[in-house]
Amino acid sequence: MPGIYTIPPLRFGTASDITVWDVMGNRSRQTESSRIRRRWKMPSVLITGGAGFIGSHLVDHYLGQGYDVLAVDNLVTGALENVAHVRDNACFKFLQADISENHDALVAEIEKLGRYDLVLHFASPASPVDYAEKPIQTMAVNSRGTEFCLKLAVRWNARVLYASTSETYGDPLVHPQDESYWGNVNPVGPRSCYDESKRFGEALVMSYIRVHDADARIIRIFNTYGPRMRKNDGRVVPNFVMQALQDKPLTIYGDGEQTRSFCYVSDLVEGIVRCAASEKTRGLVTNLGNPEEHTIREFAEMVCRIVDVPLNVEPMPLPKDDPTRRNPIIARAKSLLDWEPKVSLEEGLSKTIDALRIPA
Ligand code: UDP
Repeated sequence: MPGIYTIPPLRFGTASDITVWDVMGNRSRQTESSRIRRRWKMPSVLITGGAGFIGSHLVDHYLGQGYDVLAVDNLVTGALENVAHVRDNACFKFLQADISENHDALVAEIEKLGRYDLVLHFASPASPVDYAEKPIQTMAVNSRGTEFCLKLAVRWNARVLYASTSETYGDPLVHPQDESYWGNVNPVGPRSCYDESKRFGEALVMSYIRVHDADARIIRIFNTYGPRMRKNDGRVVPNFVMQALQDKPLTIYGDGEQTRSFCYVSDLVEGIVRCAASEKTRGLVTNLGNPEEHTIREFAEMVCRIVDVPLNVEPMPLPKDDPTRRNPIIARAKSLLDWEPKVSLEEGLSKTIDALRIPA
Protein backbone atom coordinates (compact mmCIF):
# COMPACT_ATOMS: atom_id res chain seq x y z
CA MET A 1 0.00 0.00 0.00
CA PRO A 2 1.82 3.21 -1.12
CA GLY A 3 2.75 5.64 1.64
CA ILE A 4 1.76 3.32 4.42
CA TYR A 5 5.18 3.03 6.05
CA THR A 6 5.89 6.72 6.61
CA ILE A 7 4.75 7.20 10.20
CA PRO A 8 7.65 7.23 12.66
CA PRO A 9 7.93 4.24 14.99
CA LEU A 10 6.26 4.31 18.39
CA ARG A 11 8.11 2.95 21.37
CA PHE A 12 6.84 0.12 23.51
CA GLY A 13 5.71 1.30 26.94
CA THR A 14 7.90 0.03 29.72
CA ALA A 15 7.14 -1.49 33.08
CA SER A 16 8.19 1.77 34.73
CA ASP A 17 5.30 3.55 33.00
CA ILE A 18 2.91 1.20 34.75
CA THR A 19 4.68 1.71 38.06
CA VAL A 20 4.16 5.45 37.74
CA TRP A 21 0.48 4.78 37.16
CA ASP A 22 0.27 2.60 40.23
CA VAL A 23 2.04 4.90 42.67
CA MET A 24 0.17 8.07 41.80
CA GLY A 25 -2.07 7.44 44.78
CA ASN A 26 -5.47 8.78 45.45
CA ARG A 27 -6.30 11.04 42.53
CA SER A 28 -9.11 10.02 40.23
CA ARG A 29 -8.07 7.43 37.70
CA GLN A 30 -9.27 9.39 34.70
CA THR A 31 -7.54 12.65 35.66
CA GLU A 32 -4.40 10.81 36.57
CA SER A 33 -4.53 8.79 33.38
CA SER A 34 -4.64 11.85 31.13
CA ARG A 35 -1.97 13.62 33.19
CA ILE A 36 0.39 10.67 32.99
CA ARG A 37 -0.35 10.19 29.34
CA ARG A 38 0.99 13.68 28.63
CA ARG A 39 4.31 12.71 30.21
CA TRP A 40 4.48 8.99 29.49
CA LYS A 41 3.15 6.86 26.75
CA MET A 42 1.11 4.05 28.26
CA PRO A 43 1.49 0.73 26.47
CA SER A 44 -1.41 0.09 24.16
CA VAL A 45 -2.97 -2.89 22.44
CA LEU A 46 -5.41 -3.32 19.58
CA ILE A 47 -7.37 -6.56 19.83
CA THR A 48 -9.34 -7.70 16.80
CA GLY A 49 -12.21 -9.93 17.86
CA GLY A 50 -12.08 -8.10 21.19
CA ALA A 51 -15.75 -8.79 21.92
CA GLY A 52 -15.35 -12.52 21.30
CA PHE A 53 -14.78 -15.34 23.75
CA ILE A 54 -10.98 -15.25 23.97
CA GLY A 55 -10.61 -11.64 22.79
CA SER A 56 -12.73 -10.27 25.62
CA HIS A 57 -10.65 -12.13 28.22
CA LEU A 58 -7.57 -10.51 26.67
CA VAL A 59 -9.27 -7.12 26.98
CA ASP A 60 -9.71 -7.75 30.72
CA HIS A 61 -6.10 -8.83 31.14
CA TYR A 62 -4.52 -5.84 29.39
CA LEU A 63 -6.84 -3.31 31.05
CA GLY A 64 -5.79 -4.84 34.36
CA GLN A 65 -2.17 -4.19 33.40
CA GLY A 66 -2.87 -0.50 32.70
CA TYR A 67 -2.80 -0.71 28.90
CA ASP A 68 -4.88 1.43 26.60
CA VAL A 69 -7.07 -1.14 24.87
CA LEU A 70 -8.92 -0.83 21.59
CA ALA A 71 -11.22 -3.74 20.76
CA VAL A 72 -12.32 -3.98 17.13
CA ASP A 73 -15.12 -6.40 16.35
CA ASN A 74 -17.90 -6.64 13.77
CA LEU A 75 -20.02 -8.62 16.26
CA VAL A 76 -20.65 -11.43 13.79
CA THR A 77 -19.88 -14.00 16.50
CA GLY A 78 -18.74 -11.66 19.29
CA ALA A 79 -21.14 -9.87 21.63
CA LEU A 80 -21.10 -6.48 23.34
CA GLU A 81 -22.12 -8.16 26.61
CA ASN A 82 -18.62 -9.65 26.74
CA VAL A 83 -17.12 -6.18 27.21
CA ALA A 84 -20.07 -4.39 28.83
CA HIS A 85 -18.38 -4.52 32.25
CA VAL A 86 -15.42 -2.40 31.01
CA ARG A 87 -17.52 0.10 29.05
CA ASP A 88 -16.81 2.92 31.51
CA ASN A 89 -13.09 2.23 31.85
CA ALA A 90 -11.26 5.31 30.55
CA CYS A 91 -8.57 3.10 29.00
CA PHE A 92 -11.03 1.05 26.93
CA LYS A 93 -12.33 1.84 23.47
CA PHE A 94 -14.52 -0.21 21.20
CA LEU A 95 -14.90 0.08 17.46
CA GLN A 96 -17.51 -1.93 15.61
CA ALA A 97 -15.93 -2.66 12.25
CA ASP A 98 -15.12 -5.46 9.84
CA ILE A 99 -11.35 -5.58 9.38
CA SER A 100 -11.74 -7.47 6.10
CA GLU A 101 -12.81 -4.41 4.11
CA ASN A 102 -12.54 -0.63 3.60
CA HIS A 103 -9.03 -0.58 4.97
CA ASP A 104 -8.20 3.05 4.15
CA ALA A 105 -11.26 4.36 5.99
CA LEU A 106 -10.64 1.96 8.86
CA VAL A 107 -7.02 3.01 9.34
CA ALA A 108 -8.16 6.63 9.48
CA GLU A 109 -10.83 5.73 12.05
CA ILE A 110 -8.43 3.75 14.20
CA GLU A 111 -5.72 6.38 14.10
CA LYS A 112 -8.17 8.98 15.41
CA LEU A 113 -8.10 6.82 18.55
CA GLY A 114 -4.39 6.07 18.56
CA ARG A 115 -1.56 3.98 17.21
CA TYR A 116 -0.95 0.83 19.09
CA ASP A 117 2.19 -0.91 20.35
CA LEU A 118 0.75 -4.40 20.09
CA VAL A 119 -1.77 -5.90 17.64
CA LEU A 120 -3.48 -9.16 18.61
CA HIS A 121 -5.44 -10.66 15.72
CA PHE A 122 -8.25 -12.79 17.16
CA ALA A 123 -11.14 -11.89 14.87
CA SER A 124 -12.59 -14.98 13.18
CA PRO A 125 -15.48 -17.36 13.60
CA ALA A 126 -13.92 -20.37 15.37
CA SER A 127 -16.62 -22.95 15.94
CA PRO A 128 -17.20 -25.49 13.14
CA VAL A 129 -20.89 -24.56 13.11
CA ASP A 130 -20.11 -20.83 12.83
CA TYR A 131 -17.55 -21.11 10.08
CA ALA A 132 -19.73 -23.54 8.12
CA GLU A 133 -22.45 -20.86 8.23
CA LYS A 134 -20.07 -18.03 7.36
CA PRO A 135 -17.34 -19.54 5.19
CA ILE A 136 -16.67 -16.45 3.09
CA GLN A 137 -16.41 -14.08 6.08
CA THR A 138 -14.12 -16.62 7.74
CA MET A 139 -11.82 -16.69 4.74
CA ALA A 140 -11.91 -12.89 4.43
CA VAL A 141 -10.97 -12.16 8.03
CA ASN A 142 -8.09 -14.63 8.04
CA SER A 143 -6.71 -13.40 4.71
CA ARG A 144 -7.54 -9.72 4.13
CA GLY A 145 -8.08 -9.17 7.86
CA THR A 146 -4.69 -10.68 8.68
CA GLU A 147 -3.01 -8.54 6.04
CA PHE A 148 -4.68 -5.47 7.53
CA CYS A 149 -3.23 -6.29 10.96
CA LEU A 150 0.21 -6.91 9.51
CA LYS A 151 0.13 -3.60 7.62
CA LEU A 152 -0.86 -1.76 10.76
CA ALA A 153 1.95 -3.42 12.69
CA VAL A 154 4.53 -2.49 10.05
CA ARG A 155 3.15 1.06 9.77
CA TRP A 156 3.27 1.60 13.53
CA ASN A 157 6.43 -0.44 14.13
CA ALA A 158 4.25 -2.47 16.46
CA ARG A 159 4.41 -6.09 17.52
CA VAL A 160 1.78 -8.48 16.16
CA LEU A 161 0.50 -11.85 17.32
CA TYR A 162 -1.65 -13.94 14.99
CA ALA A 163 -4.13 -16.36 16.55
CA SER A 164 -3.97 -19.47 14.43
CA THR A 165 -5.36 -22.86 15.34
CA SER A 166 -4.75 -26.56 15.83
CA GLU A 167 -7.01 -26.93 12.78
CA THR A 168 -3.94 -26.15 10.67
CA TYR A 169 -2.97 -29.76 11.48
CA GLY A 170 -6.31 -30.93 10.01
CA ASP A 171 -7.04 -34.59 10.81
CA PRO A 172 -3.47 -35.24 11.94
CA LEU A 173 -1.55 -38.31 10.81
CA VAL A 174 1.09 -37.55 13.45
CA HIS A 175 0.08 -37.70 17.09
CA PRO A 176 0.53 -35.74 19.31
CA GLN A 177 1.23 -32.62 17.28
CA ASP A 178 4.23 -30.33 17.56
CA GLU A 179 4.83 -27.18 15.57
CA SER A 180 6.98 -28.93 12.95
CA TYR A 181 4.08 -31.05 11.68
CA TRP A 182 2.67 -29.75 8.37
CA GLY A 183 -0.78 -31.19 8.82
CA ASN A 184 -3.33 -33.23 6.90
CA VAL A 185 -6.00 -30.84 5.63
CA ASN A 186 -8.73 -31.42 3.06
CA PRO A 187 -8.48 -28.23 0.97
CA VAL A 188 -12.04 -28.48 -0.37
CA GLY A 189 -13.93 -30.02 2.58
CA PRO A 190 -16.45 -28.29 4.87
CA ARG A 191 -13.73 -27.22 7.34
CA SER A 192 -11.42 -25.90 4.64
CA CYS A 193 -12.72 -22.30 4.87
CA TYR A 194 -11.26 -22.19 8.38
CA ASP A 195 -8.28 -24.53 8.12
CA GLU A 196 -6.97 -23.19 4.84
CA SER A 197 -7.58 -19.53 5.62
CA LYS A 198 -5.73 -19.92 8.94
CA ARG A 199 -2.91 -21.63 7.05
CA PHE A 200 -2.92 -18.77 4.52
CA GLY A 201 -2.83 -16.31 7.44
CA GLU A 202 0.23 -18.08 8.82
CA ALA A 203 1.94 -17.93 5.43
CA LEU A 204 1.13 -14.23 5.21
CA VAL A 205 2.63 -13.58 8.64
CA MET A 206 5.82 -15.37 7.59
CA SER A 207 5.92 -13.38 4.35
CA TYR A 208 5.65 -10.09 6.24
CA ILE A 209 8.48 -11.24 8.48
CA ARG A 210 10.64 -12.11 5.45
CA VAL A 211 9.87 -9.00 3.43
CA HIS A 212 9.26 -6.32 6.09
CA ASP A 213 11.05 -7.80 9.11
CA ALA A 214 7.71 -7.59 10.93
CA ASP A 215 7.88 -8.26 14.67
CA ALA A 216 5.33 -11.05 14.34
CA ARG A 217 4.59 -14.39 15.93
CA ILE A 218 1.96 -17.11 15.49
CA ILE A 219 0.15 -19.17 18.09
CA ARG A 220 -1.82 -22.33 17.34
CA ILE A 221 -4.67 -22.53 19.80
CA PHE A 222 -6.07 -25.94 20.72
CA ASN A 223 -9.61 -26.43 22.06
CA THR A 224 -10.27 -23.77 24.68
CA TYR A 225 -13.30 -23.38 26.91
CA GLY A 226 -14.59 -21.18 29.70
CA PRO A 227 -17.02 -18.43 30.61
CA ARG A 228 -18.30 -16.29 27.69
CA MET A 229 -18.55 -19.13 25.21
CA ARG A 230 -21.87 -18.71 23.43
CA LYS A 231 -24.45 -21.18 24.64
CA ASN A 232 -25.37 -21.97 21.05
CA ASP A 233 -21.99 -21.81 19.31
CA GLY A 234 -22.30 -25.50 18.46
CA ARG A 235 -19.03 -26.60 20.02
CA VAL A 236 -18.87 -29.63 22.22
CA VAL A 237 -18.40 -27.76 25.52
CA PRO A 238 -21.50 -25.51 25.40
CA ASN A 239 -23.53 -28.22 23.65
CA PHE A 240 -22.91 -30.86 26.30
CA VAL A 241 -23.17 -28.44 29.22
CA MET A 242 -26.46 -26.94 28.04
CA GLN A 243 -27.88 -30.39 27.27
CA ALA A 244 -26.89 -31.68 30.72
CA LEU A 245 -28.29 -28.59 32.46
CA GLN A 246 -31.59 -29.09 30.63
CA ASP A 247 -31.49 -32.84 31.38
CA LYS A 248 -31.52 -33.64 27.67
CA PRO A 249 -29.54 -36.43 26.00
CA LEU A 250 -26.02 -35.49 24.97
CA THR A 251 -25.42 -35.39 21.22
CA ILE A 252 -22.29 -37.50 20.81
CA TYR A 253 -21.13 -37.41 17.19
CA GLY A 254 -19.83 -40.73 15.85
CA ASP A 255 -18.68 -43.32 18.38
CA GLY A 256 -17.33 -40.68 20.79
CA GLU A 257 -13.84 -42.20 20.60
CA GLN A 258 -12.39 -39.13 18.88
CA THR A 259 -10.19 -37.11 21.25
CA ARG A 260 -9.67 -33.48 22.16
CA SER A 261 -7.51 -31.69 24.75
CA PHE A 262 -9.33 -28.89 26.57
CA CYS A 263 -7.55 -25.78 27.86
CA TYR A 264 -9.23 -23.43 30.34
CA VAL A 265 -9.38 -19.85 29.08
CA SER A 266 -7.32 -18.28 31.93
CA ASP A 267 -4.46 -20.68 31.13
CA LEU A 268 -4.66 -19.82 27.47
CA VAL A 269 -4.68 -16.07 28.16
CA GLU A 270 -1.56 -16.44 30.30
CA GLY A 271 0.16 -18.26 27.42
CA ILE A 272 -0.90 -15.63 24.89
CA VAL A 273 0.29 -12.77 27.07
CA ARG A 274 3.67 -14.41 27.64
CA CYS A 275 4.02 -15.17 23.95
CA ALA A 276 3.15 -11.58 23.01
CA ALA A 277 5.64 -10.20 25.52
CA SER A 278 8.49 -12.46 24.43
CA GLU A 279 11.23 -11.53 22.00
CA LYS A 280 12.05 -15.25 21.72
CA THR A 281 8.79 -16.12 19.95
CA ARG A 282 9.40 -13.62 17.15
CA GLY A 283 9.09 -15.40 13.81
CA LEU A 284 7.96 -18.65 15.42
CA VAL A 285 4.83 -20.74 15.70
CA THR A 286 3.93 -21.78 19.26
CA ASN A 287 1.30 -24.35 20.22
CA LEU A 288 -0.90 -23.27 23.14
CA GLY A 289 -3.22 -25.85 24.62
CA ASN A 290 -3.65 -28.40 27.36
CA PRO A 291 -1.85 -31.69 26.63
CA GLU A 292 -4.32 -33.78 28.66
CA GLU A 293 -6.26 -35.79 26.08
CA HIS A 294 -9.82 -37.11 26.52
CA THR A 295 -12.25 -38.98 24.33
CA ILE A 296 -15.49 -37.13 23.68
CA ARG A 297 -17.35 -39.90 25.49
CA GLU A 298 -15.17 -39.38 28.61
CA PHE A 299 -15.85 -35.69 28.34
CA ALA A 300 -19.62 -36.31 28.19
CA GLU A 301 -19.37 -38.49 31.30
CA MET A 302 -17.47 -35.78 33.17
CA VAL A 303 -20.01 -33.07 32.26
CA CYS A 304 -22.89 -35.25 33.50
CA ARG A 305 -21.03 -36.13 36.69
CA ILE A 306 -20.43 -32.47 37.55
CA VAL A 307 -23.97 -31.39 36.67
CA ASP A 308 -25.16 -34.49 38.56
CA VAL A 309 -27.43 -35.98 35.92
CA PRO A 310 -27.30 -39.47 34.36
CA LEU A 311 -25.61 -39.68 30.95
CA ASN A 312 -28.17 -40.21 28.19
CA VAL A 313 -26.84 -40.15 24.67
CA GLU A 314 -28.45 -39.12 21.40
CA PRO A 315 -26.05 -40.58 18.84
CA MET A 316 -25.45 -38.32 15.84
CA PRO A 317 -23.38 -38.86 12.70
CA LEU A 318 -19.74 -37.77 12.82
CA PRO A 319 -19.37 -34.59 10.74
CA LYS A 320 -17.21 -34.91 7.62
CA ASP A 321 -13.48 -34.44 8.20
CA ASP A 322 -13.93 -34.27 12.00
CA PRO A 323 -10.37 -34.78 13.33
CA THR A 324 -9.92 -38.18 14.97
CA ARG A 325 -7.30 -37.16 17.51
CA ARG A 326 -5.88 -33.89 18.71
CA ASN A 327 -3.32 -33.24 21.40
CA PRO A 328 -0.64 -30.55 21.54
CA ILE A 329 3.03 -30.96 22.32
CA ILE A 330 3.77 -27.79 24.29
CA ALA A 331 7.51 -28.23 24.79
CA ARG A 332 8.21 -24.97 22.94
CA ALA A 333 5.84 -22.93 25.12
CA LYS A 334 7.30 -24.56 28.21
CA SER A 335 10.88 -23.80 27.33
CA LEU A 336 10.46 -20.34 25.77
CA LEU A 337 7.67 -18.99 27.96
CA ASP A 338 7.88 -21.12 31.08
CA TRP A 339 4.19 -21.78 30.48
CA GLU A 340 1.94 -24.74 30.97
CA PRO A 341 -1.75 -25.03 31.86
CA LYS A 342 -2.58 -25.10 35.58
CA VAL A 343 -6.38 -25.47 35.70
CA SER A 344 -7.70 -29.05 35.77
CA LEU A 345 -10.56 -30.00 33.46
CA GLU A 346 -12.74 -30.71 36.48
CA GLU A 347 -12.16 -27.24 37.95
CA GLY A 348 -12.42 -25.34 34.66
CA LEU A 349 -15.53 -27.22 33.66
CA SER A 350 -17.23 -26.45 36.99
CA LYS A 351 -16.60 -22.71 36.46
CA THR A 352 -17.83 -22.94 32.87
CA ILE A 353 -20.98 -24.78 33.92
CA ASP A 354 -21.68 -22.08 36.52
CA ALA A 355 -21.27 -19.38 33.87
CA LEU A 356 -23.49 -21.18 31.36
CA ARG A 357 -26.17 -21.73 34.02
CA ILE A 358 -26.85 -17.99 34.13
CA PRO A 359 -29.90 -17.17 31.96
CA ALA A 360 -29.08 -15.03 28.90
N1 UDP B 1 -18.96 -33.05 19.20
C1 UDP B 1 -19.93 -33.95 19.66
N2 UDP B 1 -21.15 -33.44 19.97
C2 UDP B 1 -21.47 -32.13 19.87
C3 UDP B 1 -20.48 -31.23 19.40
C4 UDP B 1 -19.24 -31.73 19.07
O1 UDP B 1 -19.68 -35.15 19.78
O2 UDP B 1 -22.62 -31.78 20.18
C5 UDP B 1 -17.62 -33.56 18.88
C6 UDP B 1 -17.12 -33.20 17.50
O3 UDP B 1 -17.51 -34.18 16.56
C7 UDP B 1 -15.62 -33.16 17.70
C8 UDP B 1 -15.45 -32.73 19.16
O4 UDP B 1 -16.71 -32.95 19.77
O5 UDP B 1 -15.08 -34.45 17.54
C9 UDP B 1 -15.07 -31.28 19.31
O6 UDP B 1 -15.95 -30.53 18.50
P1 UDP B 1 -16.01 -28.95 18.54
O7 UDP B 1 -17.14 -28.54 17.65
O8 UDP B 1 -16.05 -28.46 19.94
O9 UDP B 1 -14.64 -28.41 17.94
P2 UDP B 1 -13.47 -29.01 17.04
O10 UDP B 1 -12.46 -29.52 17.98
O11 UDP B 1 -14.01 -30.11 16.15
O12 UDP B 1 -13.00 -27.84 16.26
